[in-house]
Amino acid sequence: MMNYKNLINGRFVPATGNGTMKVMNPSDGQPICMVPDSTAADVETAVEAATVAQKEWARRPAIQRAKVLHAIADKVRGQVEQLARVITEEQGKTLGLARVEVIFTADYIDYMAEWARRVEGEIIPSDRPGETILFFRQPIGVVGGILPWNFPFFLIARKMAPALVTGNTIVIKPSRETPHNAAKFSELIAGTDLPPGVVNFVHGRGSVVGDALASNSHVGLISLTGSVETGIRIMTTAAKNVTKVNLELGGKAPGIVMGDADMKLAVTAVKASRVINSGQVCNCCERVYVQDKVAEEFTDKLTAAMKASKVGDPNLDETVDYGPMINEGACRRIDEMVHNAEKEGATVVTGGKRAPSKGGFYYEPTVITDCKQTSEIIQKEIFGPVIPIVKFHDLDEAIGMANDSEYGLTSSIYTKDLNVALRACHELKFGETYINRENFEAMQGFHAGVRKSGIGGADGKHGLYEFTQSHIVYIQS
Ligand code: NAP
Repeated sequence: MMNYKNLINGRFVPATGNGTMKVMNPSDGQPICMVPDSTAADVETAVEAATVAQKEWARRPAIQRAKVLHAIADKVRGQVEQLARVITEEQGKTLGLARVEVIFTADYIDYMAEWARRVEGEIIPSDRPGETILFFRQPIGVVGGILPWNFPFFLIARKMAPALVTGNTIVIKPSRETPHNAAKFSELIAGTDLPPGVVNFVHGRGSVVGDALASNSHVGLISLTGSVETGIRIMTTAAKNVTKVNLELGGKAPGIVMGDADMKLAVTAVKASRVINSGQVCNCCERVYVQDKVAEEFTDKLTAAMKASKVGDPNLDETVDYGPMINEGACRRIDEMVHNAEKEGATVVTGGKRAPSKGGFYYEPTVITDCKQTSEIIQKEIFGPVIPIVKFHDLDEAIGMANDSEYGLTSSIYTKDLNVALRACHELKFGETYINRENFEAMQGFHAGVRKSGIGGADGKHGLYEFTQSHIVYIQS
């Protein structure tokens, strides 16, 4: 079995003490490869290397940094099939989605590289004669990038590309569930002109490697994509050095289906939300509010669509709609949430149990009605192929229930009435709202949550600026 290493200062090195961790295939529970079980000392070494490398990297004109990023994107495009198979094997998404992830990653790196000539400062008018006031956007220094497992390959790019084009260096900690694709990415960048220490990968546990990154005083920005619980832990740790944090956390996206909605569109988009990546996507619709006059029709059509989903091992069958959950714990938690809802009086219309498998972690496509707004299934992230439905009478009620959440990442509404859509724009308290379309963000947008869904954001110009810090200069002549 392949035993991968960390990438630190341009060299592949084992963890201090040679500790290793096994990577498992969630589709069948079989081992795939080994990665380092790194220590705080490994993080220290990587941060030192990144600190040294950053000075020279930042001195390069941005367009030269961009050239290296474009070369990385080209290499990614040259290995779509191999990388997609690695992602599917360790994460469980369909091969089709894994291919999209790899291609999107290459496009994202190119997109961020294209900002090289566009990150501009400002000249601010002064109140004093002979004075010039300059506003610079400077790199922060060393970025710590901590990744989740659900879009593990793309998330490398979402942290690395904006960090590098703006003159930072980075130390990345992949999720211990999905480090294989990151190990492959390390090999891929090792064959480019990237100077040693500019990008480092340290594998291991969040409580060790992630914690060491968040507590290192030489790290200028910790950018985490992960759960609310981890976000709170990282914020607490980073607070000791007043380190800037950028947190992309969980969601509980409401979808509102109005009586005049295009029913086919609403059903297709909500089903896609719960089926894509086995329902393990932060921005996808996790609870539906449907106007009472179309509730029966919507529920029937959604139930039929969910029932028709083909579940199975995505490594063996390219036609499955979705594969396994990431691990046994995730599958068990989903099942508990469904049964807790039932105990509170909800009705499981279809699904509601684990799907049979030899060693994998599969859950049936599930629709639940008669859910209470206060119940766990409506208030907590499910992260599985389960959709709870709540009926409402008017828009005020729907918006009130949608906003009644500790999360605030994304939301959606289906309606043909422009006034209703505009009210939703103004009154839904979320970082993102999709109107009459599926839940999926664009690289030039700004993916950012409110409330416990995070601080700061990613993508587009505003996401890029998260990786810069201001420097204002007053020159008196
Ligand atoms: P997670 O359990 O919070 O883990 C995320 C990362 O944090 C992992 O690399 C983890 O390490 C690390 N970590 C754990 N404890 C840590 C600590 N004490 N200090 C520093 N790092 C620590 O999240 P996940 O299960 O991987 O991902 C699913 C979650 O991510 C969901 O809630 C989902 O909504 C959210 N998500 C949000 C977005 C967004 O853009 N808002 C996108 C994707 C996913 P290990 O390797 O040990 O687990």
